[in-house]
Amino acid sequence: MSGLLDAYAKAAGEDTISHLRQLASTLNGMKVVHVNSTREGGGVAEILCRLVPLQQELGFDARWEVITGGKEFYQCTKSFHNALQGNPVVVPERLLKEFEKTNRENADRMKDALEDADAVFIHDPQPAPLIKYFPNRKGKWIWRCHIDASQPYRPVWNYLRKFVAQYDASVFSLAEFSQSLPHPQYLILPSIDPLSEKNMDIPDEEVDHVAATFGLDRSRPLAVQISRFDRFKDPTGVIRAYRLAKKFSPGLQLVLAGGGATDDPEGSTVLKEVQEAAGGDGDVHVLLLPADAHRTINALQRAADIVVQKSIREGFGLTVTEGLWKGKPVIGGNTGGIKIQVIDHHTGFLVSTPEGAAMRMRYLLLNRERREDMGREARDYVRRNFLLTRQLREHLTLMVGLHHGSEDRIGMG
Ligand code: UDP
Repeated sequence: MSGLLDAYAKAAGEDTISHLRQLASTLNGMKVVHVNSTREGGGVAEILCRLVPLQQELGFDARWEVITGGKEFYQCTKSFHNALQGNPVVVPERLLKEFEKTNRENADRMKDALEDADAVFIHDPQPAPLIKYFPNRKGKWIWRCHIDASQPYRPVWNYLRKFVAQYDASVFSLAEFSQSLPHPQYLILPSIDPLSEKNMDIPDEEVDHVAATFGLDRSRPLAVQISRFDRFKDPTGVIRAYRLAKKFSPGLQLVLAGGGATDDPEGSTVLKEVQEAAGGDGDVHVLLLPADAHRTINALQRAADIVVQKSIREGFGLTVTEGLWKGKPVIGGNTGGIKIQVIDHHTGFLVSTPEGAAMRMRYLLLNRERREDMGREARDYVRRNFLLTRQLREHLTLMVGLHHGSEDRIGMG
């Protein structure tokens, strides 16, 4: 058995792996290509850098391509992101032209990789128009939306829909995100890799060391939110919650840690807003981390008493599952994919306002035993629902369905 699968068999059980092998065997080493818009930063890159190697080990010719563009391209696609998550953003014609031109250029560059692929997964809006430039495509093309598209700004969605409608299928994280489209829609929740640097067990001394590096006092309570600096993640709301909670828990410290994603041009503006909101409070640690700080993030989540993800909109929110996996109750915004992960009063608390978040912080900080019980329930909930092997199984099932869908009988080995 190969290295990765061997390690997974130990973590998830032999049965899980043989089930994956069985599904994969009906697909005969297909060529599968994923395309997104960044290799680092954000949840999609996080998932693909684990999913693709595992698909390769299962015998697929699996590849990961990244669409690249200039400043105006990313400005345009960030506007799409904001609009799909509900902001009424008018995208100028000039940016739309740049968007389509960039996709055309990338299509030329990726021709060999995509034209003869058996399955192409296009992630999010950035590369959505690629399909238009592959009239002779051989395989099935699937649009995978990771965004909270429950209430998209209609003019922008109507524009993007023209491209999305050309796909053979689309995948959303939640039923409430799905849209009216002329093809089958699948629901697949994201996952984390328990063996990655971000999520593996690490020694307590390492947690102590990372905390000390950032000047955190481990004898005092700590709340941590790990996120790109994006207004939908509401970092300033987290600071307001911290200030309110600090009245009851004067020793409280807060970490807001994030890094830039190469496809997110708004990060530095939001970071400045957050630094201003922190206002020189020595117990608020605003950390700008490098893209490969996975172990550092792992340690910060473990050092936390409470993990926070107070988003206002969230497609899934991998950071929630990451926190739960480390046995921490999560205080999460009552929105999108967070609602699937935070089971109120069990794995954490869902909140809608900074006041609500502060009240839950206070409760958890005052009730250590309850915090620990919830943390145990949290980890178990992730084990049962949000590990990579489950997501891979659903991906393979989707591929089996699309590939063999028109056949009366599908041999399963
Ligand atoms: N992340 C990271 N460095 C950072 C901020 C975030 O590695 O500075 C990771 C985080 O641990 C998580 C992913 O990026 O795995 C963010 O995914 P999520 O679904 O929470 O949010 P997105 O950024 O995709 O909106």
